[in-house]
Amino acid sequence: MKSALYLYNTLTRRKEIFEPIAPPFVGMYVCGPTVYSDSHLGHARPAVTFDVLYRYLMHLGYSVRYVRNITDVGHLENETEDSGEDRITRRAKQENLEPMEVVQKYMNSYHKSMEQLNTIPPSIEPRATGHIIEQQQMIDILIKKGFAYEANGSVYFDVEKYDKKYRYGILSGRVLDEMQSNSRVLEGQDEKRSPFDFALWKKASAAHIMRWPSQWSEGFPGWHLECSAMSTKYLGDVFDIHGGGMDLIFPHHECEIAQSTASKGSPSVRYWIHNNMITINGQKMARSLGNFIKLDEMFTGSHKALVQAYTPMTVRFFILQAHYRSTLDFSNEALLSASAGLQKLQNAVKTLGTLVPSEKSTVDISGLSQKCHDAMNDDLNTPIAIAHLFDGVRIINLVNDGKETLTGADIDLMKELFNTFVFDILGLKTESGSNDEKLAGVVKMLLDIRQEAKANKEWAVSDRIRDRLGAIGIVVKDRRDGYDWEVTS
Ligand SMILES: [Zn+2]
Repeated sequence: MKSALYLYNTLTRRKEIFEPIAPPFVGMYVCGPTVYSDSHLGHARPAVTFDVLYRYLMHLGYSVRYVRNITDVGHLENETEDSGEDRITRRAKQENLEPMEVVQKYMNSYHKSMEQLNTIPPSIEPRATGHIIEQQQMIDILIKKGFAYEANGSVYFDVEKYDKKYRYGILSGRVLDEMQSNSRVLEGQDEKRSPFDFALWKKASAAHIMRWPSQWSEGFPGWHLECSAMSTKYLGDVFDIHGGGMDLIFPHHECEIAQSTASKGSPSVRYWIHNNMITINGQKMARSLGNFIKLDEMFTGSHKALVQAYTPMTVRFFILQAHYRSTLDFSNEALLSASAGLQKLQNAVKTLGTLVPSEKSTVDISGLSQKCHDAMNDDLNTPIAIAHLFDGVRIINLVNDGKETLTGADIDLMKELFNTFVFDILGLKTESGSNDEKLAGVVKMLLDIRQEAKANKEWAVSDRIRDRLGAIGIVVKDRRDGYDWEVTS
């Protein structure tokens, strides 16, 4: 019934049969967010992709330990050159908060968005600041083994030395010699022996708030180190799956491989899995382009690029309509069509519950479940699985219209298929759906009128709209470039 699962391994650049180290147990580590700002569309794709992998592995009978970290220190603004300010520290200064208040605020916001997208929380969610000792221990081992060196209180990973024994660049396909000859970075510019060395420990400057004592200096860990330390702590020296977005392949995951391999003597990860990126109307999403959409804005329609609100399940369904290794382009047209498709699927689920059984089936539905499994087994091909589900939708509607018939047993089979795939594996839940989108549409219309009123200095109208919405529990918050709103309970 369930044939083997194949997953594309970035390390070998081919689909490989998935064989866990110690079945039925599976260890999976996914890089989580750096919590210094609100969750945006870029967070949704890896979260949904690895949620579906988690759900499918459990459906296949595996017992999965899913670890997804929270980066709350050490992620510098310029991540390829190990320079700039810590992102959390910078935000703490901007918002006049303690760094840990920033972390808590945006971690809560991330969790809320993830719950709205119906992702199952990971089994363990370790934080970098909670594992300073483990990271220091790993640095100690790397220094003792000769793969790291101290310079002025900071510690760097010696990429050249590592490359001589193992090979640096196996995941990204980069070759150190070529990187060196193409590099314009001037030697001797900083305390690193080579520009490709990366920080394991950074000595904190006098102004740096987040700092911990160590034998090298008062400082903080480098960004890549936490994932090596925490993945192996919770999943063992060798574990099954490591996932994340493609943008993490270099330098983050390459550095993780180097750290883990150098300290343990052999690689830690069997299958490296990466989801592709998203674009907005064909463009890269960037704050500077004004197309940076936060998940909250998506769900309320308050971003100016959106013609309406899209529910979390519409966004989830839209993400699953593309294969996780393909690029995914967000546009109003594509989202509207996803919303209509999801509605059709959900209507069919409702209709399925009311079908009247017949003596004989006029359509053969016995192969549908296998086809859906085959699609998922082929490197989680959710768009193909969804296409097979829509064959089911067509049959359900034909039976409902009296043009085809199904026996009671076949109707039960269809119900099992839809419950398993729509709800358990694809993780789509029934939401008041279209009503939420309609409410958001009405609120957006009122608030757009209010924006016009404000522009015309009709303050009484603008205040009345805000106050009347407030009275029915819809709180409006003005922003420099527009507004946010939320329904309070
Ligand atoms: Zn990571």
